[in-house]
Amino acid sequence: MTAPAPRSLVIGDYTVTAFSDGLFETTIDVTVGVDKAMTQKISGKALDEPVFLSVNAFLVEGRGVRALVDAGTGDTMGSALGKLPDNLRAAGVGLDSITHILLTHIHPDHSNGLVDGVGQPWFPRAEIVVQETEIRFWYDRDLSQAAHDRQLRNMINAKKSLAPYEKRTTRIGDGEFLPGVHALMSPGHTPGHNTWTIEGGADSLIIWGDTIHMAFMQLERPEIAFVFDTDPAQAVASRLRLLDRVAADRTRVAGMHLDFPGYGVVRKRDGRYTIDAE
Ligand SMILES: [Zn+2]
Repeated sequence: MTAPAPRSLVIGDYTVTAFSDGLFETTIDVTVGVDKAMTQKISGKALDEPVFLSVNAFLVEGRGVRALVDAGTGDTMGSALGKLPDNLRAAGVGLDSITHILLTHIHPDHSNGLVDGVGQPWFPRAEIVVQETEIRFWYDRDLSQAAHDRQLRNMINAKKSLAPYEKRTTRIGDGEFLPGVHALMSPGHTPGHNTWTIEGGADSLIIWGDTIHMAFMQLERPEIAFVFDTDPAQAVASRLRLLDRVAADRTRVAGMHLDFPGYGVVRKRDGRYTIDAE
């Protein structure tokens, strides 16, 4: 299968280009706190049926920066993933030309790809930019503080992938980080899950990370949360708040797990959300 071609949007002085890391195989059985029969009904899928989710990253170029929003899975999640470095290079983007990695959050499919199979940084010149709340939770804490096995594995991965960048990591709070590039936390999926808004002229795009994992269920039922959510109730509240905001102001969205290239416009009709692909 050939890699999907990168797709660009122009937002003022910035060009945003979607790159694929590959496809993540899962099932609808990873929901928590909801009726499994309901999830089967609205998805039309059996609990054990494979579901393939896009894993996307976005390159933001302009004003002297070449920033990558998230870094994919690296070689940690199988051969259907980890394609981001090759896809960047195939588009003529040298990995040493990346100036910043703007993380939405620290999870294996977003940050394991910061390093290669032997722990060397893929992006030798990039500055890592991450919410303080997020890096404290996954990187600073002692492993003995992990609440369960999955969290422990993610903490171990976070330490591996972020340690080589420790001297060039910038910890942020909400606000404008680069001209027209704004961070805003949308917590719940992880404690410091972050959205990046790119603004230029009258235009804007919100790269919303993992606000939606399975659009085919969560647009109809945004209260569906997943075992990957650190705080499912908070994740649901953040999702609803963001869906309402972007449906009201028509800000275009870019999602890490919306079907590649991951761009869309959210609409709300009769209390139901839809996303029209852009
Ligand atoms: Zn994810």
